[in-house]
Amino acid sequence: MKTRNYKFRLYPNDSQEKKLQNNLAVCRWVYNKFVECAQKGFISRNDCNYYLVELKQQERWLYGYYSKMLQAISAQIDSAQKVIIELNKKGYHTGNLRFCKYHDYRTFTYNQTGFKMEQHGNTDLLHLSKIGWIEIRQHRDFPQNSKIKQVIVTKSKSERWFVCVTVDISESLVDIPKISFSRSVGIDVGVKSFAYDSNGNQTPNPKNFQKMLKPLARVQRKISRRKKGSNNRLKAILKMQKIHEKIANKRKDFQHKLSTQYAKNNDVVFVEKLQKLNMVKNHRLSRSIMDASWGIFLQKLEYKCKMVIEVPARNTTIDCSRCGNKVPKSLAVRIHRCNFCNLVLDRDYNASINILNKGLNKLPQELREVTLVEMPKVSKKQEEATQFVG
Ligand SMILES: [Zn+2]
Repeated sequence: MKTRNYKFRLYPNDSQEKKLQNNLAVCRWVYNKFVECAQKGFISRNDCNYYLVELKQQERWLYGYYSKMLQAISAQIDSAQKVIIELNKKGYHTGNLRFCKYHDYRTFTYNQTGFKMEQHGNTDLLHLSKIGWIEIRQHRDFPQNSKIKQVIVTKSKSERWFVCVTVDISESLVDIPKISFSRSVGIDVGVKSFAYDSNGNQTPNPKNFQKMLKPLARVQRKISRRKKGSNNRLKAILKMQKIHEKIANKRKDFQHKLSTQYAKNNDVVFVEKLQKLNMVKNHRLSRSIMDASWGIFLQKLEYKCKMVIEVPARNTTIDCSRCGNKVPKSLAVRIHRCNFCNLVLDRDYNASINILNKGLNKLPQELREVTLVEMPKVSKKQEEATQFVG
């Protein structure tokens, strides 16, 4: 059994939007009631559900809302408390659960039942119990043998409504993928280029964020100039959140396209183990965003590719990928130049070949039916680039 998530945009009419908004408000109210209890001591999922029954008897209007949606909050509280307990065990200092503010509560969940999806003519519709049929743009079909497990309705920061549909897909035995290690690639992620692979493909860093920094700074200045609580300030805040959403969307789009391409062309992808410590040390904003974006890119690779293997990062930039000679270099040196075998090529390209070879070497003997990559000839373009640098 495999699960997959699909995100679709919802187009509620005015009265439906009011109902959705109401749902959020009620869920938040219940959530905060639970938090109030949790602050006095651990409250389990069952306790929450009992408390919910009591609440309903006091506040009869709660019956107007889908009961399973409210019960899902119990599970949410339960797991949030467990996370805090785990963190405390590891020695992190965490506070108690906090009350959720109006604008921060943005999702509610219908689990197992209470929803239906149908197509009427050209329009796709989602039925939510106690709310009704809402227009939805289902831009992608579900695979065969799939069953909807739950739907999560979200209001984005730019006030648009989305639904995340979780689908269970039953797989037959025939579908188990065959893996061929001859279809392997090593990928090096870096600052200069987002990814450089052992086939010599270079993917430059998307400049999305840099491009959006100016409008972002402009709108942030506006916010700081305007009076707190004023309508104009709220408008500017909404605008800022829209820009943030746009950046996030562009990044997602870029990462999806690149990871899909790698998943299509390769069975096995070797990547460097990202060093978390180095990431935290770096204080520059743009750099830290890049770091985060690699992590998310790796996650996408992991669920799309048949196999992703992490290779320890030790010496991948220093070793010569042809002869193994060590060529130490600072971050500023972009070209790998080996004095022993006269290999000259881009440092990230060299690293990606090392990652691939290291990865293949580490495989158990029975899997290693492929030979290591032979050193590709340096292309003319690269030679020119090298001459220019040298
Ligand atoms: Zn060499």
